[in-house]
Amino acid sequence: MIDLKTLTIKKAQESLQKGEYSSVELVSAYIEQIKKVNPEVNAYLEVYTDALDQAKLADERRAKGDKDSLTLPLLGIPFAIKDNILFAGHTASASSKILEQYVASYDATAISKLKEAGAVFIGRVNMDEFAMGGSTENSAYGVTKNPNDLERVSGGSSGGSAAAVAMDGALVALGSDTGGSIRQPASYCGAVGLKPTYGRVSRHGLMAMGSSLDVIGPITKTVDDAEIVFDVIACADADRYDSTTLTKIEVSEIAGSHKTLDEQVGTNSSNTTKLRIGIVPELMNLDGLSKEVRENLNASIELLKSAGYEIKEISLPHIKYSLAVYYILMPAEVSSNMARFDGVKYGSKVEGADLLQDYMNTRGELLGKEVRKRIMLGTYVLSSGYHDAFYNKANLAKDLITTDFKNAFEEVDLILTPTAPTPAFKIGAHTSDPVAMYLEDIFTVTANLVGVPAVSIPSGFAEVEGKKLPLGIQFMAPHCREDILFIVGKKFEELRG
Ligand code: GLN
Repeated sequence: MIDLKTLTIKKAQESLQKGEYSSVELVSAYIEQIKKVNPEVNAYLEVYTDALDQAKLADERRAKGDKDSLTLPLLGIPFAIKDNILFAGHTASASSKILEQYVASYDATAISKLKEAGAVFIGRVNMDEFAMGGSTENSAYGVTKNPNDLERVSGGSSGGSAAAVAMDGALVALGSDTGGSIRQPASYCGAVGLKPTYGRVSRHGLMAMGSSLDVIGPITKTVDDAEIVFDVIACADADRYDSTTLTKIEVSEIAGSHKTLDEQVGTNSSNTTKLRIGIVPELMNLDGLSKEVRENLNASIELLKSAGYEIKEISLPHIKYSLAVYYILMPAEVSSNMARFDGVKYGSKVEGADLLQDYMNTRGELLGKEVRKRIMLGTYVLSSGYHDAFYNKANLAKDLITTDFKNAFEEVDLILTPTAPTPAFKIGAHTSDPVAMYLEDIFTVTANLVGVPAVSIPSGFAEVEGKKLPLGIQFMAPHCREDILFIVGKKFEELRG
C-alpha cells in the first residue's frame, strides 16, 4: 500500500527510482482513492481514460534507464489539471456548459513543460465557471466540497485542485490565480498554493479571465513540491506564444533589483533568518477578520520571531482600495475576454431566429449567472461616460498600490498576511451576499494587481463546530523572488513541525 497521505514528489521519485512501485501502481492508487472519495467531494470532473497509458510510458522510459529520462524531475509523477488549462486531445470545459464538449487542440505551455519533465496527468478538476468565484459554487457541475468538512466549500476558483490534493486524490494539481484562486482554496483545504510572478509562467493555453492578472501555479502538499513544479513550468525565457512572459534578461534584472537577500545573507548562506518580514497593521484590524484567523496570524508571527526573523510593521496606505480596484479591472478584462464565446467560434450553440438571437440564446443559456454578471459589470465600467470614472481611476489606484509595494520592499524582503479572512465557509453561506463573497479575496487580490509572487502555506487549524478547519498564511515577495518565498516557506513548515 502506498501511503498517499504523506507522499511528496521527492519521496515518490525515490520510490519510483528504487523500484518500490511503478508509476502505473502509483496512478492506480490515486484512481482508487478518487473512486472512493470523489463521489462525495466532487473534485474531479473526469479521470482521463489514458492516465494509465501515460504512466506506462513513464515506466518504460525509466526501465530503459537512459540518462536523459532519469534526470527528468517529474518522471511518472501524477498531476491533476484545472479545467481551464488545455491538454491536447482532452476535454477542457472551464466548468461551463458552453464548453462542455470542447476538446483542446493543443497543449498549454505549462502542460508541454510538464510533459517534457515526465509528468502524468490523471484528470481534470472542478472550478468556478471560467475561474470566476471563490468557492466552486459557480461551477456548472456542482460544488466541490471541502475534504476537511463536507458541509463547507473547498474555496475557489481552483477548489477542485485544492480538494484533489487534500483528499489524497492527486500529488500535485495545477491551478490558476487571477485574484487568489490558487492561494485561497489551498488555505481552505490545508495545502500549499503558489501564485508565481505575473509573466513567469506562460498563459498560453490557459483560458483567459483577466489577462493582466492571470497566472498558472501549483497546489501541493509541501513548499518543496511547489518549488519543484515551479522550476519546471516557469519559462526560462520569453514564451513565443505569450508576449507578456518575461525574458531571461528581464527576470535576472528584476530579481537583481531586490538586493537584500544576497546583500544580507549571501546567496548560499543558510543564515536566512536575517530576512525581514513586513506585517501590515491596517490589514490586521479589518472588520471581517475572524478571531481564529487573527489568533493564528499572531501565533505564526511569534513562531517566525522565535526563529530569528525580524518582523517589521510596514504601511501600505493604498491597499484599502485593492478589492475595489480588482472588482473594476478584473470584470473589464472578463467582459472583453468572454466575447469570444458567441456560439460560433467555440463550444456549444443555442440557435435563434437570427445571428443576434443566436448570441443572446447561447450566452444567456450556456453561461452561468456570475459570468454574465461580470460581463455586464465590465461592459459598464468600460462604457463611454463611465470609463474615466471607473476604469481609469482604478488603474491610477493600482499604480499607487504598486508604488506602495515598491517602497515596502525597500524595507522588507517579504510581506506576511493571512491568506483569507475566515476559514472555509459553509456551502451556500455567501450565495445571497456577493459582497461577503468578494471580501474573502481581500488579502489575495493585491498580489495579482501588483504582479508579485505569493504563496499560501498551512498555518494550523481553527476548531469550528467540532471540526478542524485548516488555515493558511500568505507571504508575498518582490517580483521574480520566488526563491525568498521558498526559503522562508520551508523554514515556516519546519517551525510548525
Ligand atoms: N475569487 C476571486 C474572484 O472571484 C478570484 C478568482 C481567481 O483568482 N480566478 O474573482
